[in-house]
Amino acid sequence: MTDQTPKKLFIKTYGCQMNVYDSQRMAEAMGAEGYVQTDRAEDADMVLLNTCHIREKAAEKLYSDLGRLRPLKGARPDLKIGVAGCVAQAEGEEIIRRAPLVDLVVGPQSYHNLPAMVRGEAPAVNTEFPPEDKFDHLPQRRATRRAPAAFLTVQEGCDKFCAFCVVPYTRGAEVSRPMARIMAEARDLVARGVREITLLGQNVNGWHGEGGEGFGALIRQLAGIEGLDRIRYTTSHPNDMGDDLIEAHRDIPQLMPYLHLPVQSGSDRILKAMNRKHTAEQYLRLIDRIRAARPDIMLTSDFIVGFPGESDQDHAATLRLVEQVGFGTAFSFKYSPRPGTPAFGREMVADEIADARLQELQALLDRQQKAAQESMVGRTLGVLFEKPGRMPGQMVGKSDYLHSVFVHAPEVAPGELLQVRIKASAPNSLEGELV
Ligand code: SF4
Repeated sequence: MTDQTPKKLFIKTYGCQMNVYDSQRMAEAMGAEGYVQTDRAEDADMVLLNTCHIREKAAEKLYSDLGRLRPLKGARPDLKIGVAGCVAQAEGEEIIRRAPLVDLVVGPQSYHNLPAMVRGEAPAVNTEFPPEDKFDHLPQRRATRRAPAAFLTVQEGCDKFCAFCVVPYTRGAEVSRPMARIMAEARDLVARGVREITLLGQNVNGWHGEGGEGFGALIRQLAGIEGLDRIRYTTSHPNDMGDDLIEAHRDIPQLMPYLHLPVQSGSDRILKAMNRKHTAEQYLRLIDRIRAARPDIMLTSDFIVGFPGESDQDHAATLRLVEQVGFGTAFSFKYSPRPGTPAFGREMVADEIADARLQELQALLDRQQKAAQESMVGRTLGVLFEKPGRMPGQMVGKSDYLHSVFVHAPEVAPGELLQVRIKASAPNSLEGELV
């Protein structure tokens, strides 16, 4: 007799949107095996930790989370514990050696094998970079209604080898998914109520089609899908901002006026040490071209402060670049070394100096963020409503610029895309009224 009770899967996702997407796909793969998701590790038959290697002490965080699972596994030895994502890729078998309670280790390129691994039909550690497209081996997404905004992975991996970054080692070389598959997945999402798609990739604008089409061509194709009202993408490299993509920003209203374009530093010396393969001036000229194509675009970026060898002059060059561009928001971090990357082992900038520089940069970026947000007051923007807010009758959605917008609109349902006049700016959100 077979047990019909669905098994429960708990997934904890660390890190970036790629991981959020990967977790969804792993849940779908396990759904085909009869697993349903639960929010509580205590109730689960299987716990999956989908890890991220970008931030400091990623492996330590994983091992301390695994330590917390030990009593659960002790009480229920048949509980399956899996580790996925970039730490799984980087550490491999070492994870099971250090934490024997772990049953499975699966890298980001191999998670289509997860069901077979759980059934014991594939090795318990799988960190291959298989030649086949893992997406071909995943079950179709289930035909359920979706939230109005969704992610869609179009590209994985990176060939850029920035000196500080683990991605080329954990996610492997750049691989683009074929256009036809992306279009099919996008159409399916739209048929299930999705109105906004964010295209994902570690180096998303490095995407190219089998016939040599550029990323701009993919966006043009997607814009032809009826009912797909908004397109976004992340994360981009400045050197892959081709003319076709800039023209897409000019021509395609569905492509939102928002671009996350990491620069990391404003100093040519540091950009070279980082192996970014562009100068500050080239970045600034690129921004000019993008703004000429789409004057209302909001730019966001990433910065690393205190990269080995960074001097006061280099830091001043970064502040100058920030002043020149004017960012809508940005992520800034103090450099932390990653084993296996070229910059690992280089002489570090003293902690207190790096801290002070980070504070100075963040204060400037905060001022720019506040100014960008306040500049929305009085404007009328599209808002894609996602869910009710905390106040009675309130709905919350995302503006064209990804700001959260709160509106008193009891008649509005999630998934409606409406014009909203912005009335006020709060620390991390906007308030508006329906036009
Ligand atoms: S382009 Fe991005 S993902 Fe690729 S190596 Fe550089 S920082 Fe890492």
